[in-house]
Amino acid sequence: MPMKLTKDAMRILFGDVSKLREIIDIPRDVLMNASCSPELSETFYSDEPAEQDKALAICSGCKAIESCLAYALPSEEFGIWGGTTPEQRAKMRMKSDIVSPDQRHLVLEIRSDLDRKIGAKPFASKYQVTQRTYYRWLEKLEDAA
Ligand code: SF4
Repeated sequence: MPMKLTKDAMRILFGDVSKLREIIDIPRDVLMNASCSPELSETFYSDEPAEQDKALAICSGCKAIESCLAYALPSEEFGIWGGTTPEQRAKMRMKSDIVSPDQRHLVLEIRSDLDRKIGAKPFASKYQVTQRTYYRWLEKLEDAA
């Protein structure tokens, strides 16, 4: 089943995608001041509520919590980061222009295919949309340019 674009990702698709190309590194502050460590990976990536609570408790005392969350919102799909669960970050993204990593990749791939004008038929089959969508999106991109 092909991944669907979210509303926010759709808005970005027709806008300036150059920011999406930036490689986001884990901030130095997080690397230097993290209260977590690689040994705690199982706790931080667990689906068990009790383990997640343990991880959240560690985050709550972490000096890097703000920069960690700022990094994790656009960059981390899974695990506890910056005192949030993946579900909480997904909700936060919905209320902002920030898109998740998988949406970012999808937007960049679609934009690249539209820029290269790969053709309605292959586009429709690749993204499971109608051929009309291809022409509509191409037109939208040209209007936005
Ligand atoms: S906020 Fe949480 S996930 Fe981020 S560095 Fe601190 S302890 Fe680790």
